[in-house]
Formats: sequence, C-alpha cells, structure tokens
Amino acid sequence: MYPEVVIKIDKYKSNIKSLVERCSGANVKVWIVTKSFCAHPHIVSNLIDCGIDGLADSRIQNLKKMKDLNIKKILLRIPMLNEVDDVIEYADYSLNSEIETIYALGERARKKGKKHNIIIMLDMGDLREGVWPDDVDDFINKVLKIEGVEIKGFGTNLTCYGGVIPDENNLGRLVKIAKEMAEKYKLDLEYISGGNSSSYYLLEDGKLPVGINNLRLGEIAILGRETAFGKRIDMLHDDAFILRAQIVEIKNKPSVPIGNIGMDAFGNKPYYEDRGIIKRAIIAIGRQDINPDGLIPLDPNIDILGASSDHTILDVTKSERDYKVGDVIEFKMDYGSLLKAMTSEYVDKVVV
Ligand SMILES: *Cc1c(COP(=O)(O)O)cnc(C)c1O
Repeated sequence: MYPEVVIKIDKYKSNIKSLVERCSGANVKVWIVTKSFCAHPHIVSNLIDCGIDGLADSRIQNLKKMKDLNIKKILLRIPMLNEVDDVIEYADYSLNSEIETIYALGERARKKGKKHNIIIMLDMGDLREGVWPDDVDDFINKVLKIEGVEIKGFGTNLTCYGGVIPDENNLGRLVKIAKEMAEKYKLDLEYISGGNSSSYYLLEDGKLPVGINNLRLGEIAILGRETAFGKRIDMLHDDAFILRAQIVEIKNKPSVPIGNIGMDAFGNKPYYEDRGIIKRAIIAIGRQDINPDGLIPLDPNIDILGASSDHTILDVTKSERDYKVGDVIEFKMDYGSLLKAMTSEYVDKVVV
C-alpha cells in the first residue's frame, strides 16, 4: 500500500559493512543507530552479521523490540528517571550525565542483582547533553561510590544541537580527559566514544584522535553522506531508503492561486512563482509524514511546489513521463523526512 518506504536491505547492509571496515582499520568499533527507522524489527534483525559492535537507540521502546537479539544494546538518550527499570532490563549500556539518574540506575540494578554499564557523556561545547569538563573529576568520584553501575567509558555528542564540528581539538580533549580519569581512578575503560556521523570525516582524513575507539553511526549509513559538511561518501549507497507515493489528482491549472492570499494551513503567508498554466500532480502524502523540502524526486524534472497535512503538490510539466492518476512517484529523503516517514503509521515500510 502507498505511501511506502522501500528499504533496500542489501544496500543498507553494504553501507554498514563498508563503514565497519573503514572504522576497524582505525580501531574504531561501530554502534549502528536505529532510531531514525524506529528500530524496525525486520531491518534490525538483518544487521547482526554486519560486523557491528552494538545497536544503539535513544528510545527504550526500540531497545525492547530488540531484546531477543544477541548483540550489545545501548541507550543513547540520557535516561528518564521513570524508565530506569526498563533501562536495566533492556540496555546493556546507557549514556549518562546526571548523578541522580545514575543513583537510580544503581539502585534498580542492585535490586535485580545486575550490574549496569554506563558511558559518561562530556559536553565538549555543543551544549546538548554532557558533564562539563571542569566538573568531571568530582562527578566520577560520586559515581564510583554507587554500587550496581560500572563506568565503561566516556563519550561526547557534537553537531546535533550547537552545530559544533568535531575536530582534533575537541575530540583530542575528550581523549585526554578520559585517559586522565582512567589513570587517576583505575577505570577499566572499554569505550571512548567520539560522536555520531559528523565525526566520520576525521577518520577519512586520518585526523581522528588516537584513543577514540567508538562511533555511533545513524544517518551516514542510511543516506550515504557524512553530516559535518554534508559530503557524499563514494563507497556508500544513497538510495537504500526510497519513498513512494501515489498520484491522486493530475490536472493543468494555473501556478498562482486565484483570490486574496491569506495564511496557509501552517500559519505562513505563501509566495507563488508565476509559471503560467502547469501540469500539477497531487500525491497522497503530506506534512504529517514528510517535510516537502526534504524530498528529492528520482525524476529530476519534477518540482515540489508545497504540501499541506496530507497532500503534496508537484509540478510535473517538464517531466518526460506522461503521469496519470495512480502512478507512483519516487523520492530520496533527507534525514528529517526519513524520520517522519518512518515514524508515520500512515506510511508502509517494505523491506526488500
Ligand atoms: C542520534 C544519535 C546518534 C546518531 O546520530 P547520526 O547523526 O544519525 O549518526 C549518536 N549519538 C547520540 C547520542 C544520538 O542521540
């Protein structure tokens, strides 16, 4: 049923294997991040044999879906206090930055007779999650007194909020702090986790600081581009996830609406370029499922004019194809659209 996202699993797996190979050459273990496709069980179960070190997600519901898979599972988002029980149950590792939360994790772990592994996040300047570097010594001191949890590593996240690019300086400092703390407190560090898809370019350029031994990769494996500068990675496919939507109306109409222009459905005052009479196709998908600006039609002669909640309007005038009602238009997606489409219950997911 349309609309649908078709997931070409061989292409996605090939991307992951290529990344794992590159990373292992630099002694970097890869956690594949599954949140953008809601840890779709059919996709996830295919990833086990790709040489990855673990599966990581920000939502505990998604880790729960993977409970029967024999692989390390990592909770990426700092846990909520009200999910601590599930974190102990379904995550082998969690990323942390709050002492209250670590107390709660330790307490639940002890009650269940378990030990929970934690990665301490350091804020290297992006101003999302993480302990401030000046406070880390004090923080470790407190964590070491908590039974039931074990410090297994340090990590940082960059680019996502502040747009800070990972570099030799900020990741070099992460390694330095991690090593100092490991020595001072005799920590058995398994991971120094150097970030997400935006850190990959450092590895390609041979600039990833020695000591970083883990990356958490989501977008780069799905869309085939790194995220510090948005560069395509030649060895990766950029069409593993394709959106397909069906035409429900196609008519020749003017390009500028007729009447006084007020606000559109989202409170914006729209602007229309006058292209004369054009061939307009409406496809049955909308802002509830995608961002119209984040769709890239595979037919290069299609322009996206706009979208409301459940209609997207295309200019197909210049296309070589004579589109009809019922025809299917295919798109690549940017990260924002992919996230929406995979999360939307109105979009089918088809793994081929
Ligand atoms: C989402 C997320 C990632 C993956 O980011 P990509 O840009 O998709 O590679 C890594 N780490 C954390 C903490 C995240 O929340």
